[in-house]
Amino acid sequence: MKVKLWGVRGSLPSPQHPDHFESRLFQMLERFDRERHLHADARSFFESIPIHHRTSFGGNTACVEVRANNGASTERATDRLIIDAGSGLRALGESLMRDSKQTGEREFHLLFTHFHWDHLIGLPFFTPVFLKGFTVHLYAVQPDLEDCVRTLFKKPFFPVPFEALGGTLVFHRLEARQPIMINGFRVTPFELDHPDPCWGYRIEREGKVYAHCVDTEGSRVSREDMGLDVALYENADLVLFDAQYTMMEAAEKMNWGHSAAPIGLEIALRENVKKILFAHHDPGASDDKIVDAERQTREYLDAVSEQRRRAGKDTPVVEWGFAREGEELEL
Ligand SMILES: [Zn+2]
Ligand SMILES: [Zn+2]
Repeated sequence: MKVKLWGVRGSLPSPQHPDHFESRLFQMLERFDRERHLHADARSFFESIPIHHRTSFGGNTACVEVRANNGASTERATDRLIIDAGSGLRALGESLMRDSKQTGEREFHLLFTHFHWDHLIGLPFFTPVFLKGFTVHLYAVQPDLEDCVRTLFKKPFFPVPFEALGGTLVFHRLEARQPIMINGFRVTPFELDHPDPCWGYRIEREGKVYAHCVDTEGSRVSREDMGLDVALYENADLVLFDAQYTMMEAAEKMNWGHSAAPIGLEIALRENVKKILFAHHDPGASDDKIVDAERQTREYLDAVSEQRRRAGKDTPVVEWGFAREGEELEL
């Protein structure tokens, strides 16, 4: 499977302030002036700059694309799922329309975790819903999926009413914790710790597992408390986990429905997860603040490893990082 992150920001799309670009460019030029003699060309200079100083974690909200790897003969380029319709869905839609000219793909499958704005606002900007001959299948555990989507395409919120959409929208109700095959993927919804409520997805294909665990507070940490929902995480190759807050903020914002990286890391260590990426960055978090959260997570992991070492226990190896918009991972 390939997993591409089209939006990793939480709560509200968060474009960078124009002043921020200007100051970053200025710092880069100053650095070039100091270090130009160390580099053969502009590319090598550019790549020597720490990644958070030359790029950004991104401002678009929740949208993930899961694709088949196109390695096996049984796989088709159109074997694809989309999870959530945050503002990242707009650019994904443009990319799908370009691909569609080559592949003839005119049918898409979109799973919803829940209907908070940051997971929904991209849908009225997803080109296939407007075009005749295109079908978009929409899936959720919540019974009010169709009501929510119809409300979105309603005046005065949006000028094009639902009844006038050119594409065909088909609604599907998913059963909690029941696996179902969707477009070649085995999909099982599990409940997360978030208001209204919210469902994560375990997606399996060809022996690989992607666990989509956003939005969640991670308030049920022990296996006992998680109950049947622990199966969402077990032996996953990749987990995408809600880390809107630092540990300090998570303590202050209890019951707000979002988590912190160390909470996800504890689950990953226990459940034999291969890699965990932290997403749903706070709309107010600058790139520097996210890099600082990375530092705090590293310190937390070092402290946990040291504690375990003293107790005579190894610490399992888990790859981890903070998610960036545009990042593509191969499982
Ligand atoms: Zn959210
Ligand atoms: Zn939410």
